[in-house]
Amino acid sequence: MPFPYEAPVSQTLFDRAAVVTPGGVNSPVRAFRAVGGSPRFMVSGTGPYLTDADGREYVDLVCSWGPMILGHAHPEVITAVQEAVARGTSFGTPGEGEVELAEQIVARIDPVEQVRLVSSGTEATMSAIRLARGFTGRAKVVKFAGCYHGHVDALLAAAGSGVATFGLPDTPGVTGAQAGDTIVLPYNDIEAVRAAFAAHPGEIACVITEASPGNMGVVPPLPGFNQGLKDVCAENGALYISDEVMTGFRVSRTGWYGIDGVRPDLMTFGKVMGGGFPAAAFGGRADVMAHLAPAGPVYQAGTLSGNPVATAAGVAQLKLLDEAAYEKVDAASAEVRSLVTEAFTKAGVAHRLQVAGNMFSVFFTDRDVTDYDSAKSQEAFRFTAFFHSMLSQGVYLPPSAFESWFVSTTHDERAIERIAAALPSAARAAAEATA
Ligand code: PLP
Repeated sequence: MPFPYEAPVSQTLFDRAAVVTPGGVNSPVRAFRAVGGSPRFMVSGTGPYLTDADGREYVDLVCSWGPMILGHAHPEVITAVQEAVARGTSFGTPGEGEVELAEQIVARIDPVEQVRLVSSGTEATMSAIRLARGFTGRAKVVKFAGCYHGHVDALLAAAGSGVATFGLPDTPGVTGAQAGDTIVLPYNDIEAVRAAFAAHPGEIACVITEASPGNMGVVPPLPGFNQGLKDVCAENGALYISDEVMTGFRVSRTGWYGIDGVRPDLMTFGKVMGGGFPAAAFGGRADVMAHLAPAGPVYQAGTLSGNPVATAAGVAQLKLLDEAAYEKVDAASAEVRSLVTEAFTKAGVAHRLQVAGNMFSVFFTDRDVTDYDSAKSQEAFRFTAFFHSMLSQGVYLPPSAFESWFVSTTHDERAIERIAAALPSAARAAAEATA
């Protein structure tokens, strides 16, 4: 028996789901394909804890893949949502909540002079690329292997996240025409970027990069890499797009921009800014954003964009995210990281724990991971054993060796003690695992 525990109610739900939904899930990384077994169906969350349909409680180190930075069901966010819902759920007209959320983003992130709200990170990056192409009149887009920018057709070449998890080279359904203008380069290789611009003079509209990648596991930019991208783009009349859907409002009050200070032309946001609801955004230089409809000719729209409930959740969450909140998240992250390092070191497991602000992940390798190839060379089978041991002991990790772990302001001593108690045997399971 591969997994030493059972979750019969989750299993029944998963069986039902598989009849009506492909693979039984609405987003591939939620399935446990990479680690085996069946996903847990969660019914509630409070602070750092999730409870599954079988009544088992977990310390959550996924935090809904980033958004739940204040923990689950934060009372002030819930109140803001309840008040918004009571006023009506969608008007299809402008509303004050959208203005407030946009003002908060513009106030925090200096390079963002104007912002447009959308409903998912995918929409944000798709729209930013369209805008970059419309603004520059050029077709080609540079992206990096292992970076994930949502399931935008043109960006599903050598993407991270679920694409990395499942080892899909590319995806059927994306035509040559859709991906033909995408140039995929190795991450952290500025010379490759220079060479691409030299090979395609006047053709590259933009370079899009995760501000600090978290979708091939955590692989931060080498010193100077983002500045190099910015400089090469500026020298060649292309736009530098920093995708902060994951890092934005998470790794600091001002996201990764607050850490490396490199000023993008356009930025994309999602996850934290929606407070657990579908809200995302792209924004940047006012002269570029002025090309967006209805101010300019580049079309972009959305029935539920700036939804009043989602914006109420986002505004409430951002208001609560002051410096003290980030200090808490950073401290919880540091504590979990040191416990993880200690457990793997004691168990004799070769590993690299890589960090970007308060995001982190473990690679089962003895070499630094700087790009997608080095990420893929890890012994991912060790993660499978580690993951299931942690799960059986009530700690919920991302079900893939190629994803960031997330903590929240609510990961307190009690939650961290539970992680600490689970780690030694999970690390031993990783040590004993075989391919
Ligand atoms: N960009 C990055 C960096 C992401 O991590 C993600 C999602 O994980 C996206 C874009 C896509 O966002 P969404 O899943 O909201 O479409």
